Amino acid sequence: MTGSCHIVELDNGFTFMMDCGMYQGHDDDMKKFNETWLYPPASVDCVVLSHGHIDHIGRLPRFTKDGFAGNIYCTHATRSLSSILLMDSAMIQEREAEYSNKKWLKKGIQYHSRITDPLYVPDDVPPVLDQMISYGYDKWFNIHEDVQVKYVDAGHILGSASVNVKIRENGKETTIGFTGDIGRPNRPILRDPVPMDPADIVITESTYGDRLHDSAPEDSNKLEEIIRHTCIENRGKLIIPAFSVGRTQEIIYMMDQMASAGKIHNVKVYVDSPLAVNATSIYIAHTECYDEDLMKYLLKDENPFGFNGLTYIKNVEESKALNESNEPCVIISASGMANAGRIQHHIINNVEKPSTTILIVGYCAPGTPGRMLRDGVSTMTLHGQTKVVNAKIEVMDSFSAHGDRNEMTDFLMNQKDKAKKIFLVHGDEDAMIAFKAHLEGVGFSNIEMPNLGESVAI
Ligand SMILES: [Zn+2]
Repeated sequence: MTGSCHIVELDNGFTFMMDCGMYQGHDDDMKKFNETWLYPPASVDCVVLSHGHIDHIGRLPRFTKDGFAGNIYCTHATRSLSSILLMDSAMIQEREAEYSNKKWLKKGIQYHSRITDPLYVPDDVPPVLDQMISYGYDKWFNIHEDVQVKYVDAGHILGSASVNVKIRENGKETTIGFTGDIGRPNRPILRDPVPMDPADIVITESTYGDRLHDSAPEDSNKLEEIIRHTCIENRGKLIIPAFSVGRTQEIIYMMDQMASAGKIHNVKVYVDSPLAVNATSIYIAHTECYDEDLMKYLLKDENPFGFNGLTYIKNVEESKALNESNEPCVIISASGMANAGRIQHHIINNVEKPSTTILIVGYCAPGTPGRMLRDGVSTMTLHGQTKVVNAKIEVMDSFSAHGDRNEMTDFLMNQKDKAKKIFLVHGDEDAMIAFKAHLEGVGFSNIEMPNLGESVAI
């Protein structure tokens, strides 16, 4: 499911990798997976990235540390996002290794062999950023004299791209299309996904291959209603657990429009997450990724991520003060599943108050506090404190950044006639099986679900 990574090797030995993603989870298998290379890093000539999510770029610092010395190609915004996301990831690796090593040390001498180094540390990140070369969308560039690459906008997160590849080899041309993660049409901030050129070989994600999203044109009205009910009528806090990159900016932009229209007058809004604050400055800088609506909006409001009443919080003291205050307000904080980060403190301090609303805006994995709230638990334990859930729980699923089964199918439709092979990747097995059947049902053929580490001659 996670850990996107594909290698293409030419007859002449030139080898490039598409994405270098981290497998995310918390078990030992994962650590092993992330440390093991199925191909020697020093033998890869360059890396081509689709977008900046950690499951697509997260192993780069380790890859470079283990011997990779080539260029890393990406879009301009992916390069910017990589800097903050890889640093954040490095700090998490370091913290987690420290935590688990402490645990083994405590258990006794027989467990000391389990003490390990982090996958990488913050010092490993700058060399990676130095290897990055960025390009805009829709133009071909060479990564080798016989290999050209073109990015098209995938509409998934800022800077996200699908990758078109043209290879000249043994007197013939072979084309590859790698979707990266497929976004959704009609979302705020970003342009709609742009289909790839028809290709001989298609590698496509399949995350939501077995699902359809609720279509929800009422997004902004529903959000406005929840803010009004919670902050104005009930004088309570609206707490929104949200991913720092993408989700947070979409919500802020939506509120910015409400504020400009005078709809949420006098409501205080706080973004309490250092990563979200940094990510927002990157969103502000990369206007080249904006859709037409946002470009027009910029003419009347030069900062779509800032309005009267909105405060960005980075330091811990301010976050604590916010925790203790009783003023009605909106708090957007990470993580999106409420399984880590400052959001947990906001939930602990407010979940027992009936005036609080907690708004869940995305997928929450089973077992996470976000999922428990979503499923309607009556009590929950966080940081050793058990609290009764008296807060109102609201859900808005329409914020997903991943295309659903039909949106992915629409995106792939122009590949149907030319593709000699379609590889499904980056999805749970159930989702892949369902997506394969669906694609076959609408006329696609030669669809394969490769195993980890499998090689195929094209
Ligand atoms: Zn992604």
